[in-house]
Amino acid sequence: MLQVCYSPQYYAQTHTNSMEKLTAVAEALKPLGIAQFHVPEHLPIEIFKQLHAPEYVDAFHTGTPEKMATFQGFKPWNTQLRDAVYQINAGQLLAAELAWKHQVSANIAQGFHHAVYEFGSSFCTFNGLALIAEQFPNKRIFVLDCDQHGGNGTAEFTKRYDNLFNYSIYGLAFGCPTYERAETSHIHKHNGNFSQYILAIHDAFKRAMEWNADLIVYQAGMDCHQDDPCGSSWFSTELIEKRDEMIFRLAKKNNIPLMFVLAGGYQALPELVELHVSTFKTAYTTYYTKP
Ligand SMILES: [Zn+2]
Repeated sequence: MLQVCYSPQYYAQTHTNSMEKLTAVAEALKPLGIAQFHVPEHLPIEIFKQLHAPEYVDAFHTGTPEKMATFQGFKPWNTQLRDAVYQINAGQLLAAELAWKHQVSANIAQGFHHAVYEFGSSFCTFNGLALIAEQFPNKRIFVLDCDQHGGNGTAEFTKRYDNLFNYSIYGLAFGCPTYERAETSHIHKHNGNFSQYILAIHDAFKRAMEWNADLIVYQAGMDCHQDDPCGSSWFSTELIEKRDEMIFRLAKKNNIPLMFVLAGGYQALPELVELHVSTFKTAYTTYYTKP
């Protein structure tokens, strides 16, 4: 069975469906019988103050000053969203531990890759990818970010943590800088194709292996899907499944533990949930039904 982190506390009602989708994915996954669910423990607020500027963490914790507390774009500030963010990040750490134990795991959450040290941004409150590097300083954390938007926040965090590497394969730049341990492959929304995407995945794995990564954190974004408002016109459901399959197969073959998160997606909930659930099915098939 796939080891999956989730808690009903991940749910938060906002003006987008980005937090509601987590619960919807968990509910769709349960009857399939392919996942074993784990509820993460609560994290003390001090852990977030090690990752982000303490004044930003305090603002998000208390709701004041409101401008800073809602800088990521979720307004008005509320405790439901706050507690969901805390719980989701606890799930990131638990999922990492489960990946080391079981070779593959997932957190039913986003990675929140746009959050930088000083503040959140674009619906990303705390950077849950950098958090793994922060909390496991002796492990080399390689983020393979396949969200349609470049993971600019995680790229910035590579300058703070030597044990963090960010590789973004994206269609829409988001500042997306390159640094010593932050690399990018841009595949054009309209003129790109899946062959270029395959090359980028191989390049990412080459870098992960050269760097002796202890964990791949795969951002399995669905906002690159052709029907998504942000999507790439050539990226069909079938090809996204191939992307997932290829990444799971390469991680398994090269014996690198992998945890995955959902990342972005902006279609209506029924279509979006189906795409995300497909990633879980592909992970299950690749790891548990094939030699
Ligand atoms: Zn995105």
